[in-house]
Amino acid sequence: MNRVIQIKEFSYLLKVNKNKIVDDWLENELVKDIFLTHQYVLTTEQKKVFYDIYEFIIGSMQWDLNVSDVSIKSRLLNILNKASFSTNDFFTLFASLKNSIILFFNLEGLLSFNLLRDIENNFLAVAKDLFIIYEQINDSNSIPKDDNTNLLNEYKKAVDLSNIVSKTNPKGIITYVNDKFCEISGYRREELVGKPHNIVRHPTMPSSTFQELWNTIKNKKSWSGLITNLKKDGRSYTVSSTIVPILDIDGDIVEYIAIRNDVTDFEQAKEQLSTLNKAMKHKVDELYSMAQTLEQQASIDVLTGVFNRMKFEEFFEFELQKAKMQRNPLSIILLDIDDFKNINDTFGHDIGDVILKSITNLISSNIRATDTVCRWGGEEFVILLPGTHFEKAKYVANNLRKIINEHKFSVVPKEVTCSFGVASLNDDDHKESLFKRVDMTLYRAKNSGKNIVIGEEEL
Ligand code: GH3
Ligand code: MG
Ligand code: MG
Repeated sequence: MNRVIQIKEFSYLLKVNKNKIVDDWLENELVKDIFLTHQYVLTTEQKKVFYDIYEFIIGSMQWDLNVSDVSIKSRLLNILNKASFSTNDFFTLFASLKNSIILFFNLEGLLSFNLLRDIENNFLAVAKDLFIIYEQINDSNSIPKDDNTNLLNEYKKAVDLSNIVSKTNPKGIITYVNDKFCEISGYRREELVGKPHNIVRHPTMPSSTFQELWNTIKNKKSWSGLITNLKKDGRSYTVSSTIVPILDIDGDIVEYIAIRNDVTDFEQAKEQLSTLNKAMKHKVDELYSMAQTLEQQASIDVLTGVFNRMKFEEFFEFELQKAKMQRNPLSIILLDIDDFKNINDTFGHDIGDVILKSITNLISSNIRATDTVCRWGGEEFVILLPGTHFEKAKYVANNLRKIINEHKFSVVPKEVTCSFGVASLNDDDHKESLFKRVDMTLYRAKNSGKNIVIGEEEL
């Protein structure tokens, strides 16, 4: 999706990319034609005139144009005199610049439909302002005076060259189409003139769009939007359109003029992008869930379903840092099943597995949600108890020892016991030192007859 930009950024980009846009503009075929006609060879000095024109126009597009401002008028006049362009040339240059700006934003990946419409509208507005300035310049300077119709015709000619233009009467019957309209729709001029404009209406276009369009233009306001039309051969094309009602001297609508730009490629590219995006999103979701499964597989012990040693290392590091930073207690319990080798040897490895799972369940269901039990390896488990002081942790360990000791394992006719070691974080501790202490307490528990809890204070 193209990024949506605000008017401030739009103006800023126009300013900082002046050289790029003007260079592209001056490479335009229509502009080159004008230079050729005037035998105008661009020197660095003359190029400045175009930078002036550009600045003048983008200044106008930022709505800070004051038509009564003498300096703007004289600047414009200066530009025109220096370059000795006819008004027609000036408007052609103007329409080409609009296309260069659109192209620039498109290449930058910033051209949204709204922006396209805004550029169209702003250029129309600036065209109107320029027209007024022309009138004033022509009034106050002895430049040969064009009449209004002449000037408008010249602008129309310029617009005709780069846009799809049609006119309809107030009833929507086509009275004029330019060559570009015929070219894109595939109809000959005589097949269009005299017909209702909906001859090119596409069946997929919602009627609400046209209702809104007609309501707007019947109210003597101009309408802008995207319309998908039907070519004679049944294919479709999409145009960014501006429709302007033309009023007579009494303020009644005499006709509508529609100016459009073909955005079919853009529209199709957007659709392709959207399909691609959807496909990508699907793939990303798939990958994400695969990654999740893989991560789970990598962090969970298959037999018991609790976290494995690798994950424990991660939790341990995290909880240790957190406890140190927040100056909270952190305790750790290490436990090992007593004489497990005997159980395996006597009842078989499978029974040993069942015991391992049962003991895991007993531990999990008798610790708090904030405590985490991990299988350290073999028949050894480690429990992390964040926010827990030593005494409390020792109590938890004793409780677990009792519960396991008293549990009747259905698969073996005898009791199964565990030995426990308990240690808590102190100020000088790091991961290794704390773990070493708890390991020593467990070792001491094994040497003290098993089925016992030894705390670090007994070391
Ligand atoms: P101690 O009381 O000193 O801890 O004696 P022990 O027999 O429990 O300790 P030892 O380290 O001698 O033996 C541990 C046994 O645990 C050996 C090993 O085969 C068994 N074991 C380790 N992992 C598994 C497992 O996943 N399933 C089964 N069934 N047994 C396992
Ligand atoms: Mg053991
Ligand atoms: Mg062991």
